[in-house]
Amino acid sequence: MTTTCKSAPVLKERGQREVFCGLTGIIWLHRKMQDAFFLVVGSRTCAHLLQSAAGVMIFAEPRFGTAILEEKDLAGMADANAELDREVARLLARRPDIRQLFLVGSCPSEVIKLDLSRAAERLSEIHGPQVRVLNYSGSGIETTFTQGEDACLASMVPALPETQAKELLLVGALPDVVEDQALDLLAQIGLTNIRVLPGKRAELDPAIGPNTHFALTQPFLGDTHAALTRRGAQFIPAPFPFGAEGTTLWLKAVAATFGIAPEVVDRVAAAPRARAEKAIAAATRTLHGKSVFFLPDSQLEIPLARFLTRECGMQAIEIGTPYLHSDLHGPELDLIAAGPTISEGQDVDLQLDRVRAARPDLTVCGLGLANPLESEGLSTKWAIELVFTPIHFFEQAGDLAALFARPLRRRAALKRQHPNMMEAAE
Ligand code: SF4
Repeated sequence: MTTTCKSAPVLKERGQREVFCGLTGIIWLHRKMQDAFFLVVGSRTCAHLLQSAAGVMIFAEPRFGTAILEEKDLAGMADANAELDREVARLLARRPDIRQLFLVGSCPSEVIKLDLSRAAERLSEIHGPQVRVLNYSGSGIETTFTQGEDACLASMVPALPETQAKELLLVGALPDVVEDQALDLLAQIGLTNIRVLPGKRAELDPAIGPNTHFALTQPFLGDTHAALTRRGAQFIPAPFPFGAEGTTLWLKAVAATFGIAPEVVDRVAAAPRARAEKAIAAATRTLHGKSVFFLPDSQLEIPLARFLTRECGMQAIEIGTPYLHSDLHGPELDLIAAGPTISEGQDVDLQLDRVRAARPDLTVCGLGLANPLESEGLSTKWAIELVFTPIHFFEQAGDLAALFARPLRRRAALKRQHPNMMEAAE
């Protein structure tokens, strides 16, 4: 008999998808990596996406930009490589602070089969060792938006130096304040030999080797996991550090790898865990007993469904994820009680039919689907907000629960103020 979702059958769908492209990751990556520049090789559409998602920076020169492929490039009438070389030379002459340059592929660069890996090699020879030039794809043809970070970090791994040192490597671009909290917790349980990928600056990037033990902080880093494994590093399987329980289990898995007893983690975690549980309980008053439906978008769906069902008393109807990676998501699925449909990939019309039939109390989905569902009387949560908001570890657990409670409270308030209008929508 199936008791958890680990052995539940997976509904696989391969149809039309509704997601942002991987360029979106540049918004948080350029803030994290303080000497990196992200040069999208793309169209005006790509430039507009980045500008509108990042907002306009008035005081600081942004560390991302777009090398626009013009009609003549797309028609093969101009040598796009020569233009790219000129553009990069101009950029690096103007910005001597840049130490890492990422050439980011887009739909147009992939359609014309511009070989950015060869371009990165060529440009590294010209501008190295001062500047490391790497490339990855953020194209919407084959990515969902969090794959941008995954592809970026995976592109860094082969270039990292070798080490034999026994070290813990934290992988994932967390906001600085959250990363500091994690490092502080780990130091309190006795772990100080810790490196982080990505480093804040190129010189802080880690070295990798057979004694590197890596823990992921984000569940969407499948390619980075594979790249690190190819370098001989050892993965620490664990639930992700979302919520009081998730954070405790993640810490215990890391501690066990380094021979530290779970009681040490319990002692260190006691006070912050109690704070987290208290903060979660405030939001749980709204969430308890409510149903939730995850559409596949951020790749955070499985860990967040585990958090909402186990720590907030919600019932998951369907947990959709763009990709299901058993190494990364297995420990999470093992904690989720059997019942919800686990789906991988998307056929958006079929999935919306299931949402409408189930009428969940809360639907977690992409921006493009949220407004139509709201107009049908369904409460929604934008998946992208979960990536832009600090939600990891104990101190953010209450905020994480509150993010899901807010749309339910808003709808309840609207119902009180405009009962007739809301009834018509439902
Ligand atoms: S990469 Fe593709 S999906 Fe993303 S903005 Fe550019 S054209 Fe649009």
